[in-house]
Amino acid sequence: MSDIIQLLPDHVANQIAAGEVVQRPASVIKELLENAIDAYAHNIQVVVKDAGKTLIQIVDDGAGMSLTDARMCFERHATSKIKSAEDLFSLNTKGFRGEALASIAAIAHVELKTKPQNEEVGTCIKIEGSKVTSQEPCVTPKGTSLCVKNLFYNIPARRNFLKSDAVELRHIIDEFQRVAMAHPSIAFSLFHNGGELFQLPSTNHRQRITNIFGAKTNEKLVPVNEDTEIVKISGFVGKPEFAKRSRGEQFFFVNNRFIKSPYLNHAVSAAFDGLLKEKTYPSYFLYLDVNPKSIDINIHPTKTEIKFDDEHALYAMLRSAIKHSLGQFSVAPVLDFDR
Ligand code: ADP
Ligand code: MG
Repeated sequence: MSDIIQLLPDHVANQIAAGEVVQRPASVIKELLENAIDAYAHNIQVVVKDAGKTLIQIVDDGAGMSLTDARMCFERHATSKIKSAEDLFSLNTKGFRGEALASIAAIAHVELKTKPQNEEVGTCIKIEGSKVTSQEPCVTPKGTSLCVKNLFYNIPARRNFLKSDAVELRHIIDEFQRVAMAHPSIAFSLFHNGGELFQLPSTNHRQRITNIFGAKTNEKLVPVNEDTEIVKISGFVGKPEFAKRSRGEQFFFVNNRFIKSPYLNHAVSAAFDGLLKEKTYPSYFLYLDVNPKSIDINIHPTKTEIKFDDEHALYAMLRSAIKHSLGQFSVAPVLDFDR
């Protein structure tokens, strides 16, 4: 029989990979925000049209890219963030797969303008369906602007699968808020169809949370602080009387990365045991800092799940730190009886 196996062309491989990385406009926003943060930006602006379906633009004042890097960054597995497999165990950056830009460029019309600090002129690249259509010198401020137009233009099935603008915008706002909460010292803004949705100045964690969720949030926050050998816990839980009927305001950040963890969520609930009315959920904004060696964030491309080395110890510490804080703020006397 004749040979029938062949390697997929790059643009096809990229399109397939894009299915994992880019589910919807909000995924693009998350990836581009993370890139801007990894590039040490102080100020990041997000501009969106039609809930990201027609335009997503992210402008940062970060490190920028050289002429060659500006082309390289769209190649698959092209990354400046890791060099070897060992680096995966001491990650200090959000990115490491080198897949986001290659994926996005495979399924949208992309324009990149970038300039490092010490260059006079920058470079502007246009790329469509993984193909660079032009690269020219251009006048642009220090940093990077990435413009993503017509997402899924070449994959009608995916485009049709997108939800209403209201739903897609909600996803965008969720991603934006998570990233902004994880990095309060960076200024962020978000505009949709010409209107300003968020203008968040550089600040601390408490103020960032209140800037996002409203001034009233400030009075309901109880600080949590615990420093042990395996984890540093900081952030806030909401006082029990402000518990909500939905789980909307529950956030874990591990090493400044938003994560979902039903297990740790359970630890928080356990700390609130006996303090909440039935079918209500406490708000929390909790920041866990752990040794990067003790976690594995490599389990999913969108990286909202994490594997911890010592889950049980973490659970116990989190629960006791929150109990302690709630007790200190004499939120409820029941806390004295350890059940
Ligand atoms: P990863 O973030 O996993 O490295 P990406 O495809 O997201 O992969 O980006 C590829 C590379 O392009 C990055 O490693 C980085 O060197 C460069 N890059 C991307 N976005 C920016 C940016 N906003 N500013 C500076 N460099 C960037
Ligand atoms: Mg990236």
